[in-house]
Amino acid sequence: MREKMKLKIGIYGLTSCYGCQLRMASVKDILEISNNFEIVCWKMMSSKGEIEQCDIAFVEGSVTTEKDEEEIKMIREKSKIVVAMGSCAIHGGVQGSLLGEDYKKIFKEVYGENSIDYKAKIGEPLKKYIKVDYNLPGCPPEENEVVYYLATFGMGTYPEEKDYPVCAECRRNGYPCLLIEKNEPCLGPIIVAGCNARCPAHNVACIGCRGALQHNVAWFDSLAITFKNRGINKEEIKKRMEIFCKQSEKIEEIIEKVFG
Ligand code: SF4
Ligand code: SF4
Ligand code: SF4
Repeated sequence: MREKMKLKIGIYGLTSCYGCQLRMASVKDILEISNNFEIVCWKMMSSKGEIEQCDIAFVEGSVTTEKDEEEIKMIREKSKIVVAMGSCAIHGGVQGSLLGEDYKKIFKEVYGENSIDYKAKIGEPLKKYIKVDYNLPGCPPEENEVVYYLATFGMGTYPEEKDYPVCAECRRNGYPCLLIEKNEPCLGPIIVAGCNARCPAHNVACIGCRGALQHNVAWFDSLAITFKNRGINKEEIKKRMEIFCKQSEKIEEIIEKVFG
């Protein structure tokens, strides 16, 4: 019997903390997964780390230097499918929240008179430079979602993003609601689910690391309007959403829908 062709996978990192790649490395079944795919490049795990021809490229990090820009364009050229992996790649991440500020001034505040080898700027998401086929949300993504994405590609189909909010998982787990019971500006109602409400589970209000939910789902209004009714103001919500998602084109639209 002819052996089934294995899909070729590339795992890349631009400017980032490498946490998403680490998540992939810590997936329990990674060895079994590797038997079903051919990993042609894994930047974090190999000293070679060259960009190779592949079927699916998972890319973490934001485009922050000229070198990142060259790399992401090269990855796009050499990959049939590109998956933006994690908040940095999808929305620019925390480093992207400085968009609009003076890069040189910020650099000096943090690094003083030191310099770096590459021409750099405030981080931007991949989609500003290339066509992205799929987003794998999270900071970092959840283990079960990494497996789900790989499994769907392996079956020749594609992954779907969740269209319900963190609140749904929070309620399902029976956690007390920090918004209703403590008046905290929890972003759960407008953030895409998948983390199983990790932060509310520890009594911490969601700060939106998974990105904004599409707001054309039926229950968006009734959940989000709760902010308004509880006296949590527009600026407070906007500021929180901008920690991870300042460059999400949906923010203004969503905030207007909630508070407009
Ligand atoms: S999304 Fe989060 S975990 Fe992934 S690279 Fe960015 S900061 Fe790190
Ligand atoms: S607002 Fe926050 S704490 Fe309340 S149900 Fe939603 S996710 Fe849970
Ligand atoms: S609760 Fe919110 S901030 Fe916490 S992991 Fe989930 S999406 Fe991210």
